[in-house]
Amino acid sequence: MNPTTWFMEATYLVASILFVLALKGMSHPDTARRGMFLAEAGMFAAIVGTLIGTHIVTWTWIIAGLAIGSIIGAWMAIWVPMTAMPQRPALSHAFGALAAALVGIGEFVVRGTQMGGVTRGALGFEIMLGALTTTGSLIAASKLQGIIEGKPIQFRGQNIVNFTIFLAMVACFAAFWIHPSAHIAFYSMLGIAFVFGIMLVIPIGSADMPVVMSLLNSYAGLASAATGFVLGNNVLIIAGTLDGFSGLILSILMCKAMNRSITNVLFGGFGAVIAEASSNAGGVMREISLDDAAMQLAFATRVVFVPGYGLATAQAQHAVRELAELLESRGVSVKYAIHPVAGRMPGHMNVLLAEANVPYSELCEMDQINPEFPTTDVAVVIGANDVVNPDARDNPKSLIAGMPILEVDRAKSVIVLKRGQGRGFSGLENPLFFKPRTTMLYGDAKSSLTHLAQAVQHV
Ligand code: NAP
Repeated sequence: MNPTTWFMEATYLVASILFVLALKGMSHPDTARRGMFLAEAGMFAAIVGTLIGTHIVTWTWIIAGLAIGSIIGAWMAIWVPMTAMPQRPALSHAFGALAAALVGIGEFVVRGTQMGGVTRGALGFEIMLGALTTTGSLIAASKLQGIIEGKPIQFRGQNIVNFTIFLAMVACFAAFWIHPSAHIAFYSMLGIAFVFGIMLVIPIGSADMPVVMSLLNSYAGLASAATGFVLGNNVLIIAGTLDGFSGLILSILMCKAMNRSITNVLFGGFGAVIAEASSNAGGVMREISLDDAAMQLAFATRVVFVPGYGLATAQAQHAVRELAELLESRGVSVKYAIHPVAGRMPGHMNVLLAEANVPYSELCEMDQINPEFPTTDVAVVIGANDVVNPDARDNPKSLIAGMPILEVDRAKSVIVLKRGQGRGFSGLENPLFFKPRTTMLYGDAKSSLTHLAQAVQHV
């Protein structure tokens, strides 16, 4: 092995180790930032190794690409608001997948007929996954940004049409594999894969997009792994496989936390029709005044804040932290209960609360906090609904039966902050709001929390 190849393989090994350590770091909020730095260092090592170890025909395109990519990346990191976070990774997946597809096309043009059967197979996967992920991710980003309608777009016989498109794509792949000189088969496979990506994502509602995006992330990773096989590049194989399977595991975990199957998310059109499922809700909701709520909080020993999607829409993360600090200064013990699918994307609540500098040590996962609710004086639900719906635990006929919940109804007192009688993502009524120990504080979450803090100061 010559020294440059040796250097390249050594940097690839270092990069791969850094990627594994990065994933481990990102599995906990305390170490997530370190995980990101390790991933960046790994990516830097892989780029340096590739630039030094491979034969570069001309540096012009490489430097131009580096400059343009760095400017766009920095612009996105600095200017994209936190509320647009769900759609930003969708764009990254689209670009990553397009890059994989373009490399695949380049390889086909340069050495299509000289490839062996295995490499040709990998090239086919790279093209199919790369192309369908590109258009699928662009549709996902457009839905989340509101550029196209977020509702599921469905028509009669949609699944049959999609299956037919899928079969056509696979048939073109088989034809290309058998006859590598058949340009028509290769480019038809590419074109159909672009169309398939669109068809796959339009029937899915924007609320289900986070699951779809982590699946698309997985496809983009697998497309990169296939690129690695085509180019004989080890770091692409390792990084693509890590990316592919972590995306898949995340999709499965999110579906579990929502008690839905992946097939239901992909083909169910959730959100198209709100099912009139049975609910244990009934009675009247009792309203609480700001002063009474402030009194309860000020004289409590233990308070747990339970943030949900409403915290994100109200951008109330700073207001909740300020109220929490005020309570802590009075000797109240404060914790935050985090449900894995609260909000609309994985880690949504963690990201918002981290932005407001809430200490990680106060964030508690569901299994950790649920046993503590019976000894909690006040549970403050901030714009959360489905993730605290006791029907999921108590009513086997509920649409969300079996979904694990934060058991706030077991707290001594529950104060719910929401604007009105609006339902959550599932569209179901929530019996928690009618329970004798629950009271409602109506209004936008940010303004309610700010006013609560002012009222607590006067207690
Ligand atoms: P949710 O069930 O969607 O409920 C949000 C509640 O917030 C609504 O009832 C709404 O009531 C209230 N709200 C909205 N804006 C508000 C504001 N400005 N101020 C105060 N309240 C406001 O939210 P969740 O409990 O967080 O549950 C998340 C749901 O999304 C789950 O069903 C989950 O399965 C689903 N989901 C999550 C993910 C993920 O990755 N996190 C992905 C896909 C789906 P009002 O209108 O009355 O104010």
